[in-house]
Amino acid sequence: MAEEKKIPYKIYLEESEMPKAWYNVRADMKNKPAPLLNPGTHQPMTAEELGGVFCEELVQQELDNDTPYFEIPQEIRDFYKMYRPSPLVRAYCLEEKLQTPAKIYYKFEGNNTSGSHKLNSAIAQAYYAKKQGLKGVTTETGAGQWGTALSMACAYLGLDCKVYMVKVSYEQKPFRREVMRTYGASVVPSPSDTTAVGRKILAEHPGTTGSLGCAISEAVEVAVSNPGYRYVLGSVLNQVLLHQSVIGLETKAALDKVGVKPDMIIGCAGGGSNLGGLISPFMGEKLRGEADYEIVAVEPASCPSFTRGVYAYDFCDTGMVCPLAKMYTLGCDFIPAPNHAGGLRYHGMSPVLSQLYADGLMKAVSVPQTAVFEAAEEFARVEGILPAPESAHAIKVAMDEARRCKETGEEKTIVFGLTGTGYFDLVAYQKFHDGLMDDYIPTDEELAAFRAKLPKMD
Ligand SMILES: *Cc1c(COP(=O)(O)O)cnc(C)c1O
Repeated sequence: MAEEKKIPYKIYLEESEMPKAWYNVRADMKNKPAPLLNPGTHQPMTAEELGGVFCEELVQQELDNDTPYFEIPQEIRDFYKMYRPSPLVRAYCLEEKLQTPAKIYYKFEGNNTSGSHKLNSAIAQAYYAKKQGLKGVTTETGAGQWGTALSMACAYLGLDCKVYMVKVSYEQKPFRREVMRTYGASVVPSPSDTTAVGRKILAEHPGTTGSLGCAISEAVEVAVSNPGYRYVLGSVLNQVLLHQSVIGLETKAALDKVGVKPDMIIGCAGGGSNLGGLISPFMGEKLRGEADYEIVAVEPASCPSFTRGVYAYDFCDTGMVCPLAKMYTLGCDFIPAPNHAGGLRYHGMSPVLSQLYADGLMKAVSVPQTAVFEAAEEFARVEGILPAPESAHAIKVAMDEARRCKETGEEKTIVFGLTGTGYFDLVAYQKFHDGLMDDYIPTDEELAAFRAKLPKMD
């Protein structure tokens, strides 16, 4: 025990110990993630086709299943230094509160103005757009974290930034919107009448609160119809997981520094980018047979892509303009009930994580909303940080596991990703405190109806 306490509350890395290259877990996967397909021909998307939508260098990263390391350009490393390395915290206070023999660590990514891990990929994507000489980028944002992160990155590099924001969030989160505008972005509620696809969705579903899928369609349409613009996406894609590997690489370096090997790694999963990034070096060891880890994805019971979805080719967007991706999906028309963890409302899941899950290399659980907020509140009171509702999904499962360890006496080492802060989610906290939060869970019949509309392959 005396020795145990030598591990500090916060395990920091020196600037010189920060990762110099991103790690591409696909290089170590025996079963590679399925390729993106052209929605018209059902043939794998070529670099040329993808280049109409995405920046050239990002297309290379997207398609490369073999190169294990990509050097992080110096400019991006300099930007990372403004808010990284992010702290790895030993949750002594939470352990004490739970009276658990488990050892709990969390990697805190909320330590920047955008309030989440999304800045790690935003700066990379904006950098490659700038390098290509583009004028600007378009994107969608759900809860607003991605749009905020991208606005910050674009402001830093002097790029124009157009953000399509899911309408329910645009209305519920005016402060998020104003942060984006402060960083110079233009923000449009989606679906909107500024695009053909937006007008079509509005005609078919009047009064819809929007979804990430339809905001994506609008942002893609604007990117491909304006010269000098490309589309960027904050999650799901292989390139985003690559950039987010900085989370896992730092976590592993910090744990190695204090001689700790985790048993279990937990993260919330929306499109899979934070979890994919956090687990990547650990999964690499697992794939190469060097170590074993229990890896757990946590998703909301209201949007259960892994636990109740199917592994199939589907559209990434409601407007069906994007390539098809093979992933665990609820169907691209799935419009989840307004859930307060807006960042976890996407219908699909990263193709990389989908393949790892299909191969039994990781597990997934879903948790209902009020239980998540109970855990968030308990965590905030002992560890001080006000967590984002998305992050609280991981907190909930980490706390459950620590409580289980109390029963069994296991001294398990648990690491979870604390992806962001909840300052812009106080309407959700208010609903929780006032007892007005519900635990809507879709029925099997509802899910089957969306599943029936999956694209028919060959
Ligand atoms: C966007 C977001 C998530 C979910 O996205 P992933 O791509 O699954 O990581 C989780 N937490 C926070 C704070 C977010 O902003």
